[in-house]
Amino acid sequence: MPTYSNSRLNTYENCPMQFRLRYIDQVEVPPRESIEAFLGKRVHESLERLYLNVGQGYRPSLQELLEHFRESWQKEWTDAVHVVRSGETIAGYRLIAERCLSAYYRKHEPFDRGRTLGVELLVTYTLDPERDLQLQGYVDRLVDLGGGHFEIHDYKTSRRLPTQSSVDRDRQLALYQMAVQRQFNDVRSVRLVWHYLAHDRMLVSTRTPEQLRELREQVLTLIGVIQHATETNTFPARVSPLCSWCEFQPVCPAWNPQGAVDAAVNASPPALVAAAAGAHAPVDELQRLEREQEAHREQNEDEQHRPPRQ
Ligand code: SF4
Repeated sequence: MPTYSNSRLNTYENCPMQFRLRYIDQVEVPPRESIEAFLGKRVHESLERLYLNVGQGYRPSLQELLEHFRESWQKEWTDAVHVVRSGETIAGYRLIAERCLSAYYRKHEPFDRGRTLGVELLVTYTLDPERDLQLQGYVDRLVDLGGGHFEIHDYKTSRRLPTQSSVDRDRQLALYQMAVQRQFNDVRSVRLVWHYLAHDRMLVSTRTPEQLRELREQVLTLIGVIQHATETNTFPARVSPLCSWCEFQPVCPAWNPQGAVDAAVNASPPALVAAAAGAHAPVDELQRLEREQEAHREQNEDEQHRPPRQ
């Protein structure tokens, strides 16, 4: 059964070539991870551990939470982690992460709103039984408020704070909602909750049944486009400033004159980057960057949970 995730869909939308290299060709490249993705993983792990402890009847102090975070940062750090943005330091990123955790802890202590059903919880949803299409994802935290009311929580460490209308259109948590409604009995309402930790802000949205039906149709259309691209092996490279964060840049034909396939791709990389940057409103690029980093983190999660390749 073909299984898709929001991170796969994001990857295709950001750059079809990257989709091909990552998911179709499964090209092995030297491990490379952006500091933003690394930071996001460490913060997610810390909050996961916090709620697991709370679920077992033990509430760690903020100091304990931060100590565990620092240990994990040190233990997991590798030379594969890189800083792309100029003028930024590793220490600066670590400080941002600690501020995220501290603000979250102070705001939500004693962590007793509802019952946590799972952290990093795998949810699945059959999009189309006839086409055998399945969606899956990992919910950061699923909360049962009782009486059939649920909350899907998602932690974001990005610098960008989206608008309410943007989260009202967000695809990821709405897909999780579809899966939760399928997996649990008597779901009467689902609140989608984003924690923008760097801003100490919580954004909340809900979806109507009609909106979920429309989303399902949109996702099926997008999957159809991806399947057609796969059948025809049509995966154009989408050169943009995001290439600086892409682990496939060393093997990407857009960055290799021998493998270039059209005039745009044949242009020198710096010119292409500048052109791409000018072709989109800055906010679009920022949003794409956040999505790419999020996709990378989710993709790593997919890899960690997936059985080893045969
Ligand atoms: S380097 Fe850029 S164009 Fe090439 S696969 Fe990565 S994101 Fe796409």
